[in-house]
Amino acid sequence: MDSLLLTLPVIQAQPQTAALAPAEPAAPARARKPDWLRVKLPIGPDYAAVRQLVDEHKLHTICQSGNCPNMGECWGAGTATFMILGNVCTRSCSFCAVATGRPSELDLDEPRRVAEAISLMKVKHAVITSVNRDELKDRGAGVWRDTVVLTKQLSPGTTIETLIPDVKANWEALEVMTSGGQEVISHNMETVGSLYRLVRPQAKYDRSLEQIRRTKLAGHRTKSGIMLGLGEKPDEVHQAMDDLVANGLDILTLGQYLQPTKRHLEVAEFIHPDAFAAYKEEGLKRGLKYVESGPLVRSSYHAERHVNVPI
Ligand code: SF4
Repeated sequence: MDSLLLTLPVIQAQPQTAALAPAEPAAPARARKPDWLRVKLPIGPDYAAVRQLVDEHKLHTICQSGNCPNMGECWGAGTATFMILGNVCTRSCSFCAVATGRPSELDLDEPRRVAEAISLMKVKHAVITSVNRDELKDRGAGVWRDTVVLTKQLSPGTTIETLIPDVKANWEALEVMTSGGQEVISHNMETVGSLYRLVRPQAKYDRSLEQIRRTKLAGHRTKSGIMLGLGEKPDEVHQAMDDLVANGLDILTLGQYLQPTKRHLEVAEFIHPDAFAAYKEEGLKRGLKYVESGPLVRSSYHAERHVNVPI
């Protein structure tokens, strides 16, 4: 999955100097969130309509499970995010709240349920993501393809972004996973190369770049995301941008990492909104076609706009 967020499944069928200041005990890191990270309230009639459908039909979206700060804005724009292939992941990324373990059997009915839910919710732009299923020979590619194909059949006007996992160099699986007719294919780098061991221990920086390169070579619109505030240096972010451009990336999201629970990796730094703005400029200068950068940006933030980015 990704930095999108945070937790559970969706459709389970269901600098500051203090030198002269009086000494005060330091607040715990989790309590020191700056003002710019305050959550916006969900508003608007479209949001209310989606919310009602979700409640009525006892559906779950990762937006709700992850308590995403942008839920009101995304749902108001007709965008919602679904997680497929279960709620147990074979990986243990240190920022992610999804449970790690041996997943249960593949649910072959899931594509139908997800497609029906998207149709029922009248989603204009669906973002679909999944856990990693490294134990499966095809990495879950068949379920991925069926989900996209069925969604397109039931909701021909709905655009789709698939936020796909690391296929672990199974390039046949990548081909199947990306063959359903989705408009955007994302794969999140999550962080800079030097932090991979800490942040994504079972992934490899170069392998993820290659996955993006192969996706681009197949003619798709490519997207990726990086979380900031994990201890990366600006130079390393710039290097990651260069690497992504060299491997054919079109769209990049940059957002603030937030620690989902005390058991997860701590926030190393809260990045100022001005720094996010500077990263956006830098990314565009370095050749990215579209950069979404801000403290509250998540992978699917403004996702409906990304389908219009030229390939
Ligand atoms: S691959 Fe990592 S980020 Fe994605 S669901 Fe599994 S543990 Fe979470």
